Amino acid sequence: MTDRPHVLYPELARLGHELEVPEGALLWKEGDPGDSVMLLLDGELEVVNEAAQGEEVLLRIVQPGGVVGEMAAGGAPRSASIRARTYCRVMRVPSSDFRALLRARPDILEDMYWTQVERVRSLTRQVTRTHQRAITDPLTRLYNFGFFRERLGLELERARETGDPVALVMFDIDHFKHYNDQNGHQEGNVVLTRVAELVREIGRRGDVIARYGGEEFVALLYGAARDEAAHFASIVREKVEQERFPGGERQPGGRVTISGGVAAFPEDAGEEEPLIKAADANLYRAKQGGRNRVVSDPA
Ligand code: GH3
Ligand code: MG
Ligand code: MG
Repeated sequence: MTDRPHVLYPELARLGHELEVPEGALLWKEGDPGDSVMLLLDGELEVVNEAAQGEEVLLRIVQPGGVVGEMAAGGAPRSASIRARTYCRVMRVPSSDFRALLRARPDILEDMYWTQVERVRSLTRQVTRTHQRAITDPLTRLYNFGFFRERLGLELERARETGDPVALVMFDIDHFKHYNDQNGHQEGNVVLTRVAELVREIGRRGDVIARYGGEEFVALLYGAARDEAAHFASIVREKVEQERFPGGERQPGGRVTISGGVAAFPEDAGEEEPLIKAADANLYRAKQGGRNRVVSDPA
């Protein structure tokens, strides 16, 4: 983001007093009180947030003419730390003087308002993209395990209040190790991606479909009773069986197939972990029963 110093610069330059800041010095730390606004006259500043394990995230670099600290001038704690990247000269303006300037000059206030609006819009886009990346499995574009677990907790909580049913279906591709061995890992990835697509196509809007592990998928079907979940699972099984995957004829059953296990809340289990275990137990029974099938009865 580019700073917009043209309106503030001459005004602030009149109000403050000049300071020299050696390279590497902190002007303030995240959480410090917002007692001043700084106008950068010379050098470069960096705006950073503290992150996990003592790491820092660089938010932006400020060039001469840029202003820092105006967001905390209303008395909020500093939202980021400011460090001098080089030797700097800054103009320090007390927050009270800065606020008096804004009251006297609505044109400056308006200019700052639009600058902040643009900053918020850009941050919102960044947050959305980052959040999407954090909850998505990069290969299949399904939700990842972490997101699934979070949603399962929330949806069971909701279902306990409403009395709605919830079903889980666990899927696992049959003899997938064999497929990889015969066709290579890359072809295996193509199968995973296509199966994921099929599960998502068959699912309804609002179903949470996630990659549970390597070649395992889970569907969280809010509002679905056991028979509806079993129906969904058997359509997935059928569609996978009908799909012509390259090299599928070399699989033990002559094609790529998938097995599924269903669990129903609250009949099979009332908590997250036991519900997953119940679906997994039925998946295991489907494998034991010869694969390419869905088991949905209570254990
Ligand atoms: P079963 O019918 O009992 O499920 O047999 P299986 O061979 O599918 O089961 P197993 O759990 O023994 O093997 C799973 C295989 O999935 C092992 C691994 O090579 C493969 N796999 C896991 N993750 C990936 C992946 O991201 N890409 C590819 N290509 N293969 C994967
Ligand atoms: Mg497996
Ligand atoms: Mg498998």
